[in-house]
Amino acid sequence: MTQQGKFILFTLDEFASWLDNLILHRKISLIQNHHTFLPDYKAFNKRKTDKYFSWLVSMEAAHRERGFSEIAQNVTTFPDGMLAICRNFETVPAGIKGANANGICMEHLGNFDLEKDAMTEAHQHTIVTINGLLCNKFKLGINTNSIVYHHWYDLNTGKLVAEGTGTTKTCPGTNFFGGNTKQACQQNFLPLVKEALIAV
Ligand SMILES: [Zn+2]
Repeated sequence: MTQQGKFILFTLDEFASWLDNLILHRKISLIQNHHTFLPDYKAFNKRKTDKYFSWLVSMEAAHRERGFSEIAQNVTTFPDGMLAICRNFETVPAGIKGANANGICMEHLGNFDLEKDAMTEAHQHTIVTINGLLCNKFKLGINTNSIVYHHWYDLNTGKLVAEGTGTTKTCPGTNFFGGNTKQACQQNFLPLVKEALIAV
């Protein structure tokens, strides 16, 4: 574990024990999954030293420019499977319009649209496991009511919309574990989260 300012960098195991000991006063009912789009894997790998913290600082600067008070997400996951706490878990994130009040916002560093970054195995393992750990911690079912993708929400109304309707982003990517639809999540992603939880 290393800390720079508010950012705390963890291995998955370190995060698991940190989460275990966490006492949170905010009610959590939604685990949000996003991709950063930019930086993507290429940008991440280009920085040879201090790449985790320097990208967190860069992302925070970009979010401040967009009018946020600080970095938008509670958690960032990295291509090599490391992860970082960003915005304090007690603070409501700025992840999905209409779905932040009881949300934990996770940004997975990369661009997971079709034909963009091929997610590493280490990154897959961290993403799958952290979704399971968070559901476990906050006593949420492993289903699409608790684990959500940004793509399912209309950007203007903040409401869940049917696939192919409304104004939506592709986030967390059209190839995020084989697709960004609710159906793809149920078929490809949630079974992995359930498996990961059994393995923990
Ligand atoms: Zn997003």
